[in-house]
Amino acid sequence: MGVVAAVVAVSLWQFDEQVLAGISAFLSLSCLGLIVRQHLTYVGDIRREAASVETAERFRAEQAETHVEELQHYVGELERSAKALRESRERFRHAAYHDALTGLANRNMFLELLEPAIASAADPFALLFLDLNRFKTVNDSLGHAVGDRLIRDVGERLTRLTGDRGVVGRFSGDEFAIFLNHVRQPEDAETFARRVADQMETVFELEGRQIFTSVSIGIAVSGPRYQNAGELLRDADIAMYYAKETSKSYVVFDQIMHARAVSLLELETDLRLAVERHEFELYYQPLVNLDDVSLMGFEALARWNHPSRGLVTPGEFIEVAETTGLIVPMTKTLLRSACEQLAQWKKDAVAESSLIVSVNLSAVHLAQKGIVDEIRTILFETDVEPENLKLEITESAVMENAENTIKVLNKIRDLGVKLSIDDFGTGYSSLSYLHKFPIDTLKIDRSFVMTMEDGSENGEIVRTVIALAKALKLNVIAEGIESIHQFHQLRILGCEFGQGYLFSRPVPASEAAKLLMDSARWQNILPPNDFGVIARNLEYTQLRIQ
Ligand code: C2E
Ligand code: MG
Ligand code: MG
Repeated sequence: MGVVAAVVAVSLWQFDEQVLAGISAFLSLSCLGLIVRQHLTYVGDIRREAASVETAERFRAEQAETHVEELQHYVGELERSAKALRESRERFRHAAYHDALTGLANRNMFLELLEPAIASAADPFALLFLDLNRFKTVNDSLGHAVGDRLIRDVGERLTRLTGDRGVVGRFSGDEFAIFLNHVRQPEDAETFARRVADQMETVFELEGRQIFTSVSIGIAVSGPRYQNAGELLRDADIAMYYAKETSKSYVVFDQIMHARAVSLLELETDLRLAVERHEFELYYQPLVNLDDVSLMGFEALARWNHPSRGLVTPGEFIEVAETTGLIVPMTKTLLRSACEQLAQWKKDAVAESSLIVSVNLSAVHLAQKGIVDEIRTILFETDVEPENLKLEITESAVMENAENTIKVLNKIRDLGVKLSIDDFGTGYSSLSYLHKFPIDTLKIDRSFVMTMEDGSENGEIVRTVIALAKALKLNVIAEGIESIHQFHQLRILGCEFGQGYLFSRPVPASEAAKLLMDSARWQNILPPNDFGVIARNLEYTQLRIQ
C-alpha cells in the first residue's frame, strides 16, 4: 500500500502542489491509522495471550491444589492402613502368644521367656507344670460351658497366687504352667507348689454349683544341665505325669524319672519294630471245667520275643502298646494267629468241636471303627466257627464308655462270637449297665481268688460274684487258681470254670496241643466219687445270697 501511494505521488508531482499536500496529509493519516490499528491488534493479541496464560496458570494452580488434596488423602489412607496393619499384627502376635480362653501366656510365650532365662542363668527359676485331676468328669457331666468357666477361674486363682513372682500360662485343655522366679533351691518351688495344690482344693463356685478339683504338679528347677527350653518343659511334664501316677500333688523332677522316661521311649521304639517284625507269640493257658476237670478251652496270652531281652510278659508292654495305639495292629495279628491255631488243632483232630479260644481285646481296640468287620474277616479267612472264639474285655474297659461299648459288643455278639468280662471285681461296674452288656461270662479277678479263705472278705466277694453271675445267667471263670484248697472252695461255691497255675501256666502252642491230647490229665485232683458237686451247691449259694 505504501509503494502504491509513492508511485501515485510521483506521477502527480507536476500537478497542483496543494493537491499534493492534501494527498500527502491523507497518506500520512492513513499510515498513522494503519500503525494505530496494527498497534491495537498487537495489544489485543498480547492481552488475549496474557488472559489465556492466566487461565492456564489458574487451571494449573487448581490442578496442583487438587493434587495436593489427593496426596493428603492418600497419605491419610496410608497412615490409617499402616495403623490397622500394626493393630492386626499386634492382635496376631497376642493370639500367637496367648491362650484365647483365659488370656494367659501360651506355650510359645513360655518358650520365649525360658530361652533367655536359661541362657543368662543369672536368676535361678523353676517351671511348674499343672494338670487338673478329673477335669474330664466335670466337662462330661456338667458340660463344656461349665468346664470353660472352671478353666478361667483356675487361671485367675493361679495368677493371684503367683502375683509378681512369675508368669502363669495355659498350654492346652486343663494343663497350666507357671514360670517361677527367684528359686534359690528346689524347696522354694516345693513350698510354692504346696500352696498352689492347697488352694486348688478349695471349692470353686460356678453358676451356683460347688466344684471341687485338685492338681498334679510337676516341677523342673533350672540348672546347668538345661540347654534349651524344650528340655525343661519335657522334664516338668515327666514330673507331672509321675505326680499323677503316684497320686501326689507335686513332684520335683529327678534323674530316676529321666532314666525311666528314656527306657519307656526305648520300649516304645522296640515295640514299633516288634509289630513290624512280628515278634509276638501266643501262649495258651487252659480253661478248665471245675466240675469234671476237663479242658474246655484256652486263653491266648501275648508274649514278646524281644531280640535282646528274651521273652517279655504283657505286664511290661500292653500299657505302652495301648497308649501308642500299637495294640491295634498287634491284636489284629494275634487274633488271626489264635484263629489259625484253632483251625489247625481242628484239622489235626486234637480239638473237640466245642473248644474255645479266648483272646484279650483292649478298650482302645474296641473303640476302633472297623473292629466288627475285622473280626468277621478273620473268622471267614481262617474258617473258624464264631462260637469257638471268645473275646475278653476288662471290666474297666467296658465301663469306660459303656453306651458305645454296648453297641459294639452287640454287633460282635451278632457275629456269633462269645464275650467275657475280664478281671471282674477290679473295676467299677454299675449293676444297671451289667445286665445290658451282651456277655456270656464273668471272669473273677485272681486277686480275690488268691486270697480267698473261709469267711474272709475276698471269699465273700467271690461268693457274691458267682451269685450275681447266676442271677444274670452268665458263666463264671475264676482266674489264678493255684492251690487245691482254692479249687475245692470254688467248686463248693458253684464256680463252673477256672484257670490257674494249678492246672497249667500259659504254654506255647505245641505244649497246648499235648494238653489237648491228654484229657484225663487233672483227674487225680478230684476227690474220690465226686459227681457234679457244682450243680448241687449252686442252689445253696443262691439261697445264701437272697
Ligand atoms: P488276663 O487276661 O487277666 O490274663 C490272666 C493273667 O493271669 C495272665 O498273665 C496269666 O499268666 C496270669 N495267671 C493265670 N493263672 C495264674 C495263677 O495261677 N497265678 C498267677 N500269679 N498268675 C496267673 P499274663 O499272661 O502276664 O497277662 C497279663 C495281662 O495282660 C492279661 O491278664 C491281659 O489283661 C493282658 N494281656 C495278655 N495278652 C494280651 C493281649 O493279647 N491283648 C491284650 N489287650 N491284653 C493282653
Ligand atoms: Mg484275659
Ligand atoms: Mg484277667
